[in-house]
Amino acid sequence: MKKFAVIGYPLEHSKSPQIHEAGFQEFDIEASFEKVEIKPEDLESWIKTEARNFAGFAVTAPHKEKIRGFLDSETEIVKNIGAVNTVSNIDGTLIGTNTDAVGALKAVLTLVDPKDKKVLILGAGGAAKAIAFGLKTAEAIVAVWNRTSERAKQLAKQLDIGLVENLEEIELIIDQFDIIINATPVGTKEWKSVFPAKFWCGNHIAFDVVYDPLQTKFLDDAENADAKIITGDKFLIYQAIEQFKVWHNIQPEAEVFEKAFFE
Ligand code: NAP
Repeated sequence: MKKFAVIGYPLEHSKSPQIHEAGFQEFDIEASFEKVEIKPEDLESWIKTEARNFAGFAVTAPHKEKIRGFLDSETEIVKNIGAVNTVSNIDGTLIGTNTDAVGALKAVLTLVDPKDKKVLILGAGGAAKAIAFGLKTAEAIVAVWNRTSERAKQLAKQLDIGLVENLEEIELIIDQFDIIINATPVGTKEWKSVFPAKFWCGNHIAFDVVYDPLQTKFLDDAENADAKIITGDKFLIYQAIEQFKVWHNIQPEAEVFEKAFFE
């Protein structure tokens, strides 16, 4: 039986096992999927001694960037984004790739084609980078804002996208944006938003990467201004569908993973 896993620290709330196991059932795949908690200081030795016992594994915080140094090869998309969220073991060779960019794009596509749309991404971490890359490849016009401006500057330069240094300064032109994305953890188990409630307009689409809770303050404020919303489960599910394709060469229907997400 093939073994798969998600590695990260901590992992208690990860929904990856239940989502992938639903795929195994749907397609009669004999495989297991477990959570493997690895502290940052133990990552290198785990890769050397344990990783090749798995046919593949998902990578989550805090290992997405650091793991690059320990793998045998990586795809072009990893070089562009700078982070790995999926590893395949092909005859003992560990290959890193990233399905977050396509996952985010497909989540947006459930509501709108982002081509020529103006997108503001809040955050400049791993998720923000993947989302910015995914939307840029779909020809969206992307700009980034981050609490630590220097990091936003670096991301803007790296991907050749726009930079918003100060959120307050764009209040008067905020209605020119079509899609606003929260790519920070703000809103996870708390009623807070990085985006001022007064900025939302009815023509906006709000997309939150946070999925615990699904209805965040960020999305609630948006809906109160009649904006449309995309919840964080969509991102998780679509990046998992891409992962499933990488490991099993099968593309599950979103409904299969959505049902498992809510179980
Ligand atoms: P990361 O690399 O650590 O980046 C975190 C980002 O959030 C940074 O830009 C950071 O800004 C910003 N931030 C953190 N706390 C903040 C605060 N209190 N106020 C304003 N900004 C703050 O993390 P990541 O990997 O990008 O993940 C971000 C979130 O996305 C996490 O909640 C993660 O669970 C979620 N995620 C969801 C999915 C999904 O499938 N739904 C997939 C990937 C990630 P500074 O630079 O100023 O610190």
